[in-house]
Amino acid sequence: MEQHNATTSSGTDPGTAPEPGELAAVLLDWYGRHGRTLPWRARPGETPDAYRVWLSEIMLQQTTVATVGPYFQAFLGRWPTVTDLAAADLDAVLHAWQGLGYYSRARNLHKCARTVTERFGGRFPEDETDLLALPGIGPYTAAAIAAIAYGKRTIPIDGNVERVFSRLFTLDDPLPGLKKRIAGHASAIMPDRPADFWQAVMDLGATVCRPRNPLCLTCPWAPACAANREGTAESYPRKVKAKAKPTRYGVAFLVRNGEGAIWLRRRPESGLLGGMIEVPSTEWRETPWKTAEAVEAAPFEASWAAVDGTVRHTFTHFHLELTLLGAETAGPAADGGFWCPPQGLADQALPTVMKKLLRLAGAKGAYSS
Ligand code: SF4
Repeated sequence: MEQHNATTSSGTDPGTAPEPGELAAVLLDWYGRHGRTLPWRARPGETPDAYRVWLSEIMLQQTTVATVGPYFQAFLGRWPTVTDLAAADLDAVLHAWQGLGYYSRARNLHKCARTVTERFGGRFPEDETDLLALPGIGPYTAAAIAAIAYGKRTIPIDGNVERVFSRLFTLDDPLPGLKKRIAGHASAIMPDRPADFWQAVMDLGATVCRPRNPLCLTCPWAPACAANREGTAESYPRKVKAKAKPTRYGVAFLVRNGEGAIWLRRRPESGLLGGMIEVPSTEWRETPWKTAEAVEAAPFEASWAAVDGTVRHTFTHFHLELTLLGAETAGPAADGGFWCPPQGLADQALPTVMKKLLRLAGAKGAYSS
């Protein structure tokens, strides 16, 4: 995360708070000096590229800037335009996405690239409503692409924007109802440069108005900021207490044949980890499985033996605990799967939870995450 010198505020005397109309000006001035250089961002004088904006915004959902950087460069190197991405195999895209998680994003990315190519001639639409209709693009992403790539006066509200505005105006509404009030304030202060304005707010949220220990002394909006005056910045945005995540349990079945190949299968296209490759397992349910019960549900008849250890993984809505049964078999594979030799594992679109499972089983292969 970038740090800023303690002397980099707008230069406004804290005793003379700027009028709301000045807020955009001091922020843009700060952005000109301290905005982040990001691989997907147009440099001064460059025309923004909607494909880059879109690709980065999809990758950045639930993922940090530092993690996304190499993935973004790799995607752009391999598929320099949205048309190139549309022509790619879904498997290749899922494979390149490995490690970013939330694989529905990768599937939608591919679908969206195809839609933009087929319906819009390979150019992302400018209109927020048209963008919103594309696969995988929600209200925030549609507004961000329209503002950043096309300079439209839309209002993209992400976590950074929520934090900065709720502090600036001490907005007490808990998330997610806060958005409407933020939109009202943002419309009033947005200048003629929406792209720079929003990127500046996002940078301010990421580097200065941080969730913890905000650097108010260096903030261009400090003189106008209500939470700064009250000393209550960290208590915004107000949060509704999150519900505890449930834990689900499953038993996976790892079968090797005489050549050491492992039997894998593809998950259904829709739903969690859709289209990804997996080691077969029981249903993931809210009560732990007894071994005898799990053996009944196995895709092979085999002499199953328990493998020591448990794989734990957290998804958006639940924690998962997987135990493992292993077996050697020379018999034919069950329907709907395939034998994968150890050297082929690295080429499979295996989600992180499955890599953990294969590590537990001692399977050789490239499992870096
Ligand atoms: Fe955030 Fe502090 Fe700036 Fe207010 S003064 S916007 S709380 S960093």
